[in-house]
Amino acid sequence: MTKSVAFHTLGCKLNFSETSSLSRLLEAEGFEKKEFDDQADVYVINTCSVTENADKECRHLVRRIQRKSPDSTIVITGCYAQLKPKEIAGIPGVDLVLGAAEKFNIAKHLREFTKGDPSKICSCDVDEVTEFNSSWSLNDRTRTFLKVQDGCDYNCSFCTIPLARGRSRSDSISGVVANAHRLAEEGIKEIVLTGVNLGDFGTRERGAKTEDFFSLVKELEKVKGIERYRISSIEPNLLTNEIIGFVANSDKFMPHFHNLLTNEIIGFVANSDKFMPHFHIPLQSGSNKILGMMRRRYRKKLYAERVKLIRTLMPHCAIGVDVIVGFPGETETEFRETYDFLHELEISYLHVFTYSERDNTHALTLGPVVPVHTRNERNKILRNLSFSKMTYFTEQHAGQTRKVLFEKYEKNGMMEGYTDNYIRVTTPYRREWANGVVDWRI
Ligand code: SF4
Repeated sequence: MTKSVAFHTLGCKLNFSETSSLSRLLEAEGFEKKEFDDQADVYVINTCSVTENADKECRHLVRRIQRKSPDSTIVITGCYAQLKPKEIAGIPGVDLVLGAAEKFNIAKHLREFTKGDPSKICSCDVDEVTEFNSSWSLNDRTRTFLKVQDGCDYNCSFCTIPLARGRSRSDSISGVVANAHRLAEEGIKEIVLTGVNLGDFGTRERGAKTEDFFSLVKELEKVKGIERYRISSIEPNLLTNEIIGFVANSDKFMPHFHNLLTNEIIGFVANSDKFMPHFHIPLQSGSNKILGMMRRRYRKKLYAERVKLIRTLMPHCAIGVDVIVGFPGETETEFRETYDFLHELEISYLHVFTYSERDNTHALTLGPVVPVHTRNERNKILRNLSFSKMTYFTEQHAGQTRKVLFEKYEKNGMMEGYTDNYIRVTTPYRREWANGVVDWRI
């Protein structure tokens, strides 16, 4: 008899692409895919360690499943499953806990498990997680999130991701290019390159660097059928002049800005038609003191230089910024410094995160701790700043015609898409525009 499976994903784009791949893997094993709200024989929750209250959310989802489908098998995987396997196995109703190394062996674990067995933890020490499993989301959207790198060798003091996902490791360039060809054949038009520390692409087993991100970018440009790429998020110290120059398609700008261009850029500008003018660059704090405490690998000067170069070469480029408020030691002075820095920077939008304590991180030893209500106030102030930045950025482009890739799906009679420079557009649904690139007047 065919078994059915339903998924629920918490967290980031990486988790979404992995859930999508797990789903295809089980479908290939004969499982029928169901919606999470439907009855299914197996439920898989792909968890996140960054999500606040991951524990509460997990318990809540398990209770929901048990109420509607008490005989089903419940599998918990993802970052939280790697970090707190025992805690999760202790949640009534949980059958299988799959850590980072076992996630993609889900079919085997389901075959070996019988409902009614005691809950089982399949997990190893994160240092032993060395394998790279490529994943991508398919059929979910017009855009695909393609995982090309996993894990992280950095040691930011607030972050549990290296503990949950292990050391940095990557696909090979030929592997990514082959996946891109496959996706082009499936009709995908846009690929968002995704990783934990994407700029560190090229690291293979035991930390050896055999290839690099810029070489990957140049190879992907040649793949026929894929019209657009985005780089999901890249550390400022790894976003090189070469990459910015390549994305810039900057021959139209270069003659005017020779004084700003290094030989490196001029040498490498290769007229990308496919890499969209859109960068997402984590900043985390606009205070050098806090950046040091966070163990980030750059200071604000380098960040400002990156933004300036992007703006010079691509005045129309969208620049998104991650920032954390309420990190230990962030007094009013450091917060003001961050606000002023962001206010001055020509960026387009912010993703604001409120610092929250995580077990086994160095940040727990730092202080003084910022009261939660102050963290929340600061979050609100920066979200307001983000709103005005986004509004200004959109207004700057009013009247321009830009290319929009519309998504396949109809939502309440409407469809949506994004311009090359990431301005969101919605319009009444037109079938002929679905999954197509359309000239759009903003
Ligand atoms: S770069 Fe820092 S914040 Fe990003 S995943 Fe690595 S350790 Fe975490």
